[in-house]
Amino acid sequence: MNANTSPSRGAYRIIDHAYDVVVVGAGGSGLRATLGMGAAGLKTACVTKVFPTRSHTVAAQGGIGASLGNMAEDNWRWHMYDTVKGSDWLGDQDAIEFMCREAVPAVQELEHFGVPFSRTEEGKIYQRPFGGHMSDYGKAPVPRACAAADRTGHAILHTLYQQCLKHNVEFFVEYFAIDLIMDDEGACRGVVAWCQDDGTIHRFNAKMVVLATGGYGRAYQSCTSAHTCTGDGGGMAMRAGLPTQDMEFVQFHPTGIYPAGCLLTEGCRGEGGYLTNSEGERFMERYAPTAKDLASRDVVSRAMTIEIKEGRGVGPKKDHIMMHLEHLGSDLLHQRLPGIIETARIFAGVDVTKEPVPVLPTVHYNMGGIPTNIHGEVVRPTADNPDAVVPGLMAVGEAACVSVHGANRLGTNSLLDLIVFGRAASKRAAEVVKPTDFVKPLPAGAGEAALDRLDKLRYAKGGTKVSAMRDRLQRDMQTHAAVFRTQESLQEGVDKIHEIWGGLGDISVSDSSLIWNSDLMEALEFENLLANATVTLESGLARHESRGAHARDDFPDRDDKEWLKHSVSWLDDKGSVSLTYRPVHMKTLTNDVEVFPPKKRVY
Ligand SMILES: Cc1cc2nc3c(=O)[nH]c(=O)nc-3n(C[C@H](O)[C@H](O)[C@H](O)COP(=O)(O)OP(=O)(O)OC[C@H]3O[C@@H](n4cnc5c(N)ncnc54)[C@H](O)[C@@H]3O)c2cc1C
Repeated sequence: MNANTSPSRGAYRIIDHAYDVVVVGAGGSGLRATLGMGAAGLKTACVTKVFPTRSHTVAAQGGIGASLGNMAEDNWRWHMYDTVKGSDWLGDQDAIEFMCREAVPAVQELEHFGVPFSRTEEGKIYQRPFGGHMSDYGKAPVPRACAAADRTGHAILHTLYQQCLKHNVEFFVEYFAIDLIMDDEGACRGVVAWCQDDGTIHRFNAKMVVLATGGYGRAYQSCTSAHTCTGDGGGMAMRAGLPTQDMEFVQFHPTGIYPAGCLLTEGCRGEGGYLTNSEGERFMERYAPTAKDLASRDVVSRAMTIEIKEGRGVGPKKDHIMMHLEHLGSDLLHQRLPGIIETARIFAGVDVTKEPVPVLPTVHYNMGGIPTNIHGEVVRPTADNPDAVVPGLMAVGEAACVSVHGANRLGTNSLLDLIVFGRAASKRAAEVVKPTDFVKPLPAGAGEAALDRLDKLRYAKGGTKVSAMRDRLQRDMQTHAAVFRTQESLQEGVDKIHEIWGGLGDISVSDSSLIWNSDLMEALEFENLLANATVTLESGLARHESRGAHARDDFPDRDDKEWLKHSVSWLDDKGSVSLTYRPVHMKTLTNDVEVFPPKKRVY
């Protein structure tokens, strides 16, 4: 144990650790990576700010995509095509191929691990249709979402945690990771975390750090994400001088409950639910004649927003849409969507077996994140090498951008991303990390910057509470980085967010203790939200086209000539953003050929 030496700081007890691998995050991606690392014999620690089974993955409802073909003919190539099309051609096709091929063995492996999937009559894994998942390159919806009723994430997360316990991995639960430790050569060497329970600071020296910290949905006022989804991984990466990628692409899920925002899974429409406007019309038939209510999420969210804008919204304020499930019958709903019955009752006071439920597009997922290759290794593009790897650092799950989701993620493809790339990262780590190698001593002053930041916030005595600053940020994001965007709305958002940066000196943290200090933790999280939100607005402002979830009223068309490229955003400590771009991988992994060139996206 070390004592804090800086005279200008508060007192800290610092505890040092050495591991082969430290995984930050215990959601589906973090646990799948942890499990693989542990099984490969690497000395592995998993650091998490909440108990593993409370991670947001537990809330995933609808399913995990894999072309098992249990309920109808299916093929991984169709899944690949759907994912490329869903991504509006911004997804890297080599990575998408990898994910869709690996989906089948990955889901079978989950079954063998003990995930209690729902079953067909013959005892196979039950699959339901989901938005944008079609047979035969876009012909008709195909059941591809492997589901455990409407609690698929819960089933997967609990199973993975149990599997982790089988291996010799160590969990550091309710430890908040503050910042990465980088060396002068730009390699990652570890991470600094704060133990909520006793206030100690932990300096992890690691041969490999894996960021699996989830998304930043909480940058918005209305979102389906847990309160813990504050983009801490992206914040840490950007403070370490690393970029984030495609941050302008934020997914709105069509069916958040109005007005609470909690999610009603797309599985509702997969099971036969449909949307109506104030005239009782099934309007999706006009917007997506083939897929209808099962078009991809960006398409459905935009259609709902247009219906409301044109005065066909439901309710006294004409500000929402109705989703119908009542025609499916009580038996089916109780069997396949039991959690939805409960959520609708609690949050909308509606019995979905008898009446429609009010819904509204709500922020749900971040397609952007820390850029990685298909092995989970973090990429820091340079002028000569757009795919240059950062030694010692990986990112997986929603925190990462591989990129398999491009400009719009298909439902069920996130759980799949967690499992496939969590597994791939552990395989790569087993190749590059040698347990027999000594852990190099940490560079001089390792962790000092993290402690300075913590200390500054701990004693921040300005006039504005963290909650007030966060509220302002969330409102600005809701208004300015919405379903539809324009140069004016985004520019106004950028101006407002820079005002927030300017006001950071006025932040106030009322409690300076180090034990269960939620005020201080929320201040750290707020800085991460702000970092993620800033690059979201700036990269959105720069992208003069509409693609996937980024819909610009002033640039309504996709522009492949100018914009078929990934946005790479670099943030400095004053909140200034610089943007560079990276080519999209258009060729397959196995044959290096272009099989799905861009075309018009219709459902
Ligand atoms: C309500 C809902 C339903 C969904 N349904 C589906 C679905 O049916 N199918 C599908 O494919 N996708 C679904 N998604 C999306 C998918 O569930 C998420 O994208 C995915 O679970 C994210 O997993 P993750 O491992 O990246 O992170 P999370 O599950 O969010 O876990 C993040 C982990 O990081 C830890 N962490 C974060 N910051 C820190 C820090 N500073 N220090 C220490 N630890 C930290 C947390 O403690 C947590 O353990 C849904 C999402 C939501 C919100």
